Amino acid sequence: MNANPLLDFSGLPRFASIRPEHATPAFETLIAEARATIERVVADPRAPSWESVAEPVADTLDRLQRAWGALRHMNAVANTPALRDAHNGNLPAITSFYADLGQDERLYAKYRALAASPSFEKLDDARRRVIDNELRDFKLSGAELPDDDKARFKAIQEELATLTASFDDHVLDATNAYALYVDDPKRLAGLPDDVVTEAREAAQAEGREGYKLTVRMPCFLPVMKYAHDRTLRAELHRAQATRASDLGAKPEWDNTPLIERVLALRLEAAKLLGYPHYAAVSLVPKMARSTDEVLAFLRDLAERAKPYAERDFAELLTFARDRLDLAKLEPWDIAYASEKLMNERYAFSDEAVRQYFPEDKVLAGLFRVVETIYGVRIRESKAETWHPSVRFFDIADQAGTTVAQFYFDNYAREHKQGGAWMDDAINRRRTASGVQIPVAYLTCNLPAPVGQGTKMRPALFTHDDVITVFHEFGHGLHHMLTQVEVLGVSGIEGVEWDAVELPSQFMENFCWEWDVLRHMTAHVDTGEPLPRELFDKMIAAKNFQSGLGTMRQLEFGLFDMLVHSAYVPGGRGGRFASPQAVLDAVRADVRVLPVAPYDRFMHAFGHIFAGGYAAGYYSYKWAEVLSADAYSLFEELGVLSPEAGARFRDEVLARGGSRSALDSFVAFRGREPQLDALLRHNGMTTSSA
Ligand SMILES: [Zn+2]
Repeated sequence: MNANPLLDFSGLPRFASIRPEHATPAFETLIAEARATIERVVADPRAPSWESVAEPVADTLDRLQRAWGALRHMNAVANTPALRDAHNGNLPAITSFYADLGQDERLYAKYRALAASPSFEKLDDARRRVIDNELRDFKLSGAELPDDDKARFKAIQEELATLTASFDDHVLDATNAYALYVDDPKRLAGLPDDVVTEAREAAQAEGREGYKLTVRMPCFLPVMKYAHDRTLRAELHRAQATRASDLGAKPEWDNTPLIERVLALRLEAAKLLGYPHYAAVSLVPKMARSTDEVLAFLRDLAERAKPYAERDFAELLTFARDRLDLAKLEPWDIAYASEKLMNERYAFSDEAVRQYFPEDKVLAGLFRVVETIYGVRIRESKAETWHPSVRFFDIADQAGTTVAQFYFDNYAREHKQGGAWMDDAINRRRTASGVQIPVAYLTCNLPAPVGQGTKMRPALFTHDDVITVFHEFGHGLHHMLTQVEVLGVSGIEGVEWDAVELPSQFMENFCWEWDVLRHMTAHVDTGEPLPRELFDKMIAAKNFQSGLGTMRQLEFGLFDMLVHSAYVPGGRGGRFASPQAVLDAVRADVRVLPVAPYDRFMHAFGHIFAGGYAAGYYSYKWAEVLSADAYSLFEELGVLSPEAGARFRDEVLARGGSRSALDSFVAFRGREPQLDALLRHNGMTTSSA
């Protein structure tokens, strides 16, 4: 056993022993080892083969990834100042190692030679795909460009990194700088008490009387939904919709020139790589095959959803006129009127639903679904963890052999990052000493049990919480039920980005099945299962305004795809004079709700101008179509059908990134994906119109 637990790869991470001071020596060692391995590989005079190139690189990267994964995980779930320093202090060395690796032309040459060698054809699909992915990634990072272009390409990437960071900063600064001080508490009528208290405390903190309202989500959304004062809603709406724009508070926060520059640089980089536009580059590693395919997909969905969105809006107009005395619906009335309508139609409280979902019942229900459809057994087990409330489980196959393991860290607590996610602790691969089984971290931030001893009440989950657990478990199964034996395409590794949410969203469907919910609910006091009447209301509420919700996503997706393909920055010969003109055109096509003339949504659209969703925003809907359509086979063969389950396990989960997501889908479903199931699940079919 190594004295430094981060350098011990004999089994699970040794969480009880890992200390912040282990980090720097461990990563210095591992990075030095990795660099030495790469030097050996590129200097190897033998003809390149899987064994002489890919395997040693995978070995050394696996160790680095496992150790870094353990530290990153602890930093996220058991944070201390010392641990954060250890993480942040080693991050630059890790980042720079991977950056060098991605640009190592000698290694690229080795992979190219390997792909051209006779031994390549003899490799299995998974190994060939690893090499193809390597070549693709080298190419997309500019490895094939002549030296001049390479320097320009690198400069573009650097400028883009700065610009996209500024984009976010501007939005954040504009958001933080805005305040609306209200003296008269009557103006806050309708707002939940906690929002009012928060607003009063915010004013007090600045030594002021009255209330401070902001455009941060925890204040902005409740005002839009609940504030009876229409002028208050209008004022905050304008402030929120003009952030970081030409109509915003400060010219230095205006993102207009930045958007133009980002688009110009992305186009230039795409052209250097030999592509017509940025969208084409973005799609190379994705499941969608072309810009046309994505645009056709979005437009088809828009055409089918629009009548339902129009119906949603007509209902809202009638309700607002008859019940709220609003003759005309302005943009700042939509959320308010919708909330009232939703409440009138489907009033039920999340709190009431929660009483039926105690943790043990939910987990037992989840495990029952997984065990029934995939033919596995889940048993609680033991391992070193980072907190006493963390549980650990084994997954065994029919023969009783452990095939995977996972940590379940369910509760919110101090020093733990918010949200829910799945991360890999160990990836499945075959090594000289046998198969290394996959291990997952499943992390949520759910309410913990309350009280102690005999007075203890179990943790109670809202239905949304339950969906979150199922969702993350779906990612977990993708990682854990893989049968692939090589790194890079085992589990969720190497899965196309627009298909990664398929197994997770797929699992959510079970949370809407009466036959599943019946067995996973028991009222915390009476033990009664969820009443059918309550379930029916939940289903109806789920599809409330689904037409409008769909059109909103399609507006964003179409704008993103068009601004990255059809718009030519500077207006040089393109169809559109400006990014705003692209948005206006999209809205003319698909927008059902009114738009405020001052609306500058684009200027705060960080997903595509600051985040990783550029020419990828469509993925949300794309993956929903896949998951709904995959689930429809279960609707045909039986919701807990082991036959459908085995097919999904073998053709999708087991394959991971070892073949294209489309091939996996077709192998599972017997055809390409179709929209019908998604429309049906959202209540958008002719029978429901
Ligand atoms: Zn997810």
